[in-house]
Amino acid sequence: MVLLLFLSHGHASGSENIRIAIANNVKSAVIESPSGLMTEGTGTGEGQRKMVIWPDAVGSAPLRFSSQGDFTSVNGRSYRGVIEIRKKQNGLLLVINDLDLEDYLLGVIAEEIPHDWEFEALKAQAVAARSYALYQKRNGGKRPYHILATVSSQVYTGKRGERERTSRAVRETRGMVLTYGGGVIQAFFHSSCGGHTENASRLWNIDEPYLKGVDCDCQEISKYGVWEKRFSLPAVAAALRKKGYRVDGVQTLEIDGITPAGRVRNVAVRDPRGTTSVPAESLRAAIGYSLIPSVFFELETEENEVIISGRGMGHGVGLCQWGAREMAQRKQDYQSILNHYYPGTAISSIP
Ligand SMILES: [Zn+2]
Repeated sequence: MVLLLFLSHGHASGSENIRIAIANNVKSAVIESPSGLMTEGTGTGEGQRKMVIWPDAVGSAPLRFSSQGDFTSVNGRSYRGVIEIRKKQNGLLLVINDLDLEDYLLGVIAEEIPHDWEFEALKAQAVAARSYALYQKRNGGKRPYHILATVSSQVYTGKRGERERTSRAVRETRGMVLTYGGGVIQAFFHSSCGGHTENASRLWNIDEPYLKGVDCDCQEISKYGVWEKRFSLPAVAAALRKKGYRVDGVQTLEIDGITPAGRVRNVAVRDPRGTTSVPAESLRAAIGYSLIPSVFFELETEENEVIISGRGMGHGVGLCQWGAREMAQRKQDYQSILNHYYPGTAISSIP
């Protein structure tokens, strides 16, 4: 009897929902369940296998669907939990997946880190992703959702993203998050730092004691160890113009300010009219995040080309995934990995 009470309490305390925007500004949503839809008392269609929802069918209260099975499909993709459809002021639809935080993570981890990597690295990623999501939930303001499903937050694809080993990493770290001073942290992570992670305050307007740079051994194994890219100057100018910079006939690019760790803050772009200072991350965004993998680079202008040679992949803040993998290969556990990349934090149950 006592044991049963204890167990049921344990489950209840681990339950925390999260709301993810899985489709935004869409004209319709196709909702399907082979075992029959449940409408959660919000409209007609109970028991149907397929419904097409148009904005006209949605009133001021959102429609909510779930399924008699584990998954409900939206526009061909399957999700756990509840699907909520809202009509926006612009007349289009916002589709939200409302589900248990732990179920959400099942569809995240393998989208963010290779599922066949060392298990302790997967567990470290699971705790970081859970912390990141919970921070967004608690600090996201008044939007009807907590987090996006894209690379600008964490990639989430529902059932498609689930893998056996990453699901096990989520289950074995159930309810565990990183905290600092009692609060859940902003657990940023990235692919490969290039040898030293970045102090967040040097790149963004975020100054947290647990987001200072630390040394990292990812260079020994990372496939993004060193890279070199070449772009023609007219192509650089065109990409920058698309982002609103007034540059034409670009003659040279020069580094204009670096962080103490060595990342480029700004790039001076010179054209016949003068010099424009462009934040290095904006240059990355303009040309393409995969084409310039990081701002940990040097550059050289040669005739009509700029040669950018750099290290690492991603923004460099927080957990370095390739570094986490290297630590796991040296038999470090996920707690040691997290303590290294988020100094001063504790791993605790969701506060
Ligand atoms: Zn690293």
